[in-house]
Amino acid sequence: MPSFCESERQDRKGRKGKHMRKIAKRIWVLLALLLGFTAGLGLLGFGFARHGALWATNRANGHIYANGAMARAGNILDRGGLVLAETKGGKRVLYPSAAMRKATLHAVGDPQGFVSTGAHSAFRSTLTGYNGVTGIYELIKNGKGADVTLSIDAQLCKTAWQALNGRKGAVGVSNYETGEVLCMVSSPSFDPLHKPADIEDNPAYDAVYLNRFLHGLFTPGSTFKIITAACAITHLPDIESRTFTCNGGYATGEGLVVCREKHGKVDFQQALNVSCNTAFAQLAVELGQANLQKTARELGFDRAFNAGKLPLAMGLFASTKPWSALELGWAGVGQHTTLANPCQMLLLMGAIANGGKGVAPKLTANSAAQTLLPPKTALSIDPALAARLRELLRSDVTAVYDPGGRKTPGLELCGKTGTAEVDGERPHAWFVGFARNAPYAIVVVGENAGGGQSVAFEIAAKVLNAAKNNA
Ligand SMILES: [Zn+2]
Repeated sequence: MPSFCESERQDRKGRKGKHMRKIAKRIWVLLALLLGFTAGLGLLGFGFARHGALWATNRANGHIYANGAMARAGNILDRGGLVLAETKGGKRVLYPSAAMRKATLHAVGDPQGFVSTGAHSAFRSTLTGYNGVTGIYELIKNGKGADVTLSIDAQLCKTAWQALNGRKGAVGVSNYETGEVLCMVSSPSFDPLHKPADIEDNPAYDAVYLNRFLHGLFTPGSTFKIITAACAITHLPDIESRTFTCNGGYATGEGLVVCREKHGKVDFQQALNVSCNTAFAQLAVELGQANLQKTARELGFDRAFNAGKLPLAMGLFASTKPWSALELGWAGVGQHTTLANPCQMLLLMGAIANGGKGVAPKLTANSAAQTLLPPKTALSIDPALAARLRELLRSDVTAVYDPGGRKTPGLELCGKTGTAEVDGERPHAWFVGFARNAPYAIVVVGENAGGGQSVAFEIAAKVLNAAKNNA
């Protein structure tokens, strides 16, 4: 279950854990519905104002829907032209492989429309062939609407789905020069042709309709050290010549920000490479809450972004309440109340990789379904800062994660792992990064999956190798 807020996590530790878990699940389902509703409302509201699409694509309209499922609509294809859903003989036919249907569920959606981010819901107007002059005339005449070509590579989604290997979480890959989302996988998933009977009650399907990549919020852990590092580079002119001494934690008046190891004496770059909490908690306290919040905002937290026309869940960092040194120290290493959205982190990685210029994520490869809302995304990072961050993130991989470069041959991988502590459960495993010599940015979150390096980095390596080989 994604970490929605601190109080929920506290609740789940309590004696009524099971009960609260159910409530927490409901909150997630509600949030998913709300987001879906908001996205749908944006789409349909716009359509209604302009075209009356609300009426035309209403489920009660028997020309499009049969027994509550979309029966007659345009094809949904991946970027290579693979048909993932089509209408044949008046019936909706999905791709003939259960693994592929599960891997692409949150991108393609289900004909019943439970998955709000799926093309069946998100691009409903396009698929049903509605236009302002003829209404659904084209549909009635031709038997279907317009096709939607998604930006995803379905085979790459399948590779990512298999690499997650049953873990909950999300994998996203984008082309950081064009913004096209090449891989968008959210787990758990289900086969829309064989929907499990226990989907509402089985914890294995917690928040299954939620697209964790676009709408999940997770404690970011040490991936947030990228933001603290950026703040330090911006405000501390001598940062590169500093050293830190780690004896297992950073002591504040209120308590210790614990480090996993005793790293001894490390410089700034080494502190990031080994992910030393002592150094980054100390830096956060020195930088102060206001500076850290400003940098976090500049790098994508506390801001609204869209992927195509779908709004992302907003990453949360800032607080109006003054933090104690202990809280600030933990916030600086991505804990405390910090929550990140995987796609928002992918956008940040893309901006760093792309010379400081963040390109808005796109979910379609053709323009028809893309233009209903203007992209709000304007993530822009100082080019010199982006250049230094690229060097630092490259050194993480060459110094610690894969010194021989054997895991991603031919790719100059850069990035940061995170092992985000979650009360009473296994940590979330994160990797965020990009290739320096090929336009791929990647985010991997394994929910309660363990270590960032042992789990998330390994998944990222598999997926990036496939991306490179498929290209
Ligand atoms: Zn340390």
